[in-house]
Amino acid sequence: MKKIRGFYIGRFQPYHYGHQSVIEHIAEEVDEIVIGIGSAQQSHSPENPYTAGERVLMITRALEHSVSLPFYVIPIEDIQRNALWVSHARAISPPFNVVYSSNPLVVRLFNEAGAEVISPEMFIRENYSGTEIRRRMLVGEDWMSLVPPVVADVINEIDGVGRLQDVSGSD
Ligand code: ATP
Ligand code: MG
Repeated sequence: MKKIRGFYIGRFQPYHYGHQSVIEHIAEEVDEIVIGIGSAQQSHSPENPYTAGERVLMITRALEHSVSLPFYVIPIEDIQRNALWVSHARAISPPFNVVYSSNPLVVRLFNEAGAEVISPEMFIRENYSGTEIRRRMLVGEDWMSLVPPVVADVINEIDGVGRLQDVSGSD
């Protein structure tokens, strides 16, 4: 029988429980999950501190512990032409039937391409956001409670907080 594959795209800088709640919801509706790591070429900057490979590690470890469906984590580099971005994402990813996103640009681009798009509910967005986690890392507030423990392990292993502080500093 044909597998229904759901596609979920994010930058995952870093992966957090908001993402996890969306993926657990997707897992109830599809046979397999494709996770696209957007802006894959970016790293070592205040908005995008972690490499694609580091983000693959965070997501793979977290999902091994929480999801029983097959999943594929695919780094997707930016192209500087939004009108071609859906084709670009489709060209790199395993084929997918349904797109899950609440990002207005992503929703718009996939809708224009004729894809089925579902926008999941936000899970306590004030806390569970990459921007909030990076802010807390910079000022030394608690961020570990916002990510799965295995993700905190990856970040600590690569000195992810020290890196964010360094790349956010000025000379
Ligand atoms: P940043 O603040 O760096 O943009 P982010 O938390 O928005 O980080 P992204 O990687 O940009 O994380 O998000 C990927 C997808 O996850 C987006 O569609 C975003 O709307 C969704 N998302 C992020 N946080 C939550 C949340 N708390 N609940 C549900 N969906 C979320
Ligand atoms: Mg975002």
